[in-house]
Amino acid sequence: MRKHKVKENRGGTLSLIDALTNVELQRECSACRSLKLAEDFQKFTSGHLRAQCRGCYTKIQREVNQKYRLNRKIKNFNDRAIEKELEGDFTIEDYNELISFANGKCMLSGDVLTPETMQLDHVVALSKLVVGSTASNVWLVHKRVNEKKWIHSLIDYLTSEHGASVVDKKRLTQSINYLAGKAGVTFEEYIDLLVESEKIALVGKTFFNK
Ligand SMILES: [Zn+2]
Repeated sequence: MRKHKVKENRGGTLSLIDALTNVELQRECSACRSLKLAEDFQKFTSGHLRAQCRGCYTKIQREVNQKYRLNRKIKNFNDRAIEKELEGDFTIEDYNELISFANGKCMLSGDVLTPETMQLDHVVALSKLVVGSTASNVWLVHKRVNEKKWIHSLIDYLTSEHGASVVDKKRLTQSINYLAGKAGVTFEEYIDLLVESEKIALVGKTFFNK
């Protein structure tokens, strides 16, 4: 009969060792805490097993990659505003709050959002040179809305044929309320700001002939 001994690893997990050969037979994963066979762990050339089982390690890597990609996306989003000398202070916390508010639905049309169709968008476009990447000017919209909207200003879009057929008024009202809260103003004041932003942009464009 084979004799086993138990070894405590750094990090407090346990391994089952063959007493005769000193080979690690089973190991407790530091992430899921299950006792698994040695083959369920990646083996380093030194002979040591990774602290997390293959399944957990893959999951951890995926989460780290996602977090890294999101950080980069938000940094890009802010940098684009800063380049235009606008504010760029949108944070991961703002993003998470927005995700939870949107609850998987376009903030303009109510369309169901998937990772492929969801787009982070400025309410007032950066090209207007009025507002930047900041919590009160960022929302989540469906790709098909965003693709049509960028040629219009928001106000023009809402009254355009495509806009009128796509926009869900109740949803948009909820979204504006959310954004107004972020700006610390009322619903009506936020709408006024939108209209003003577009006027200012228009005046700016005519004045500077941009
Ligand atoms: Zn595990």
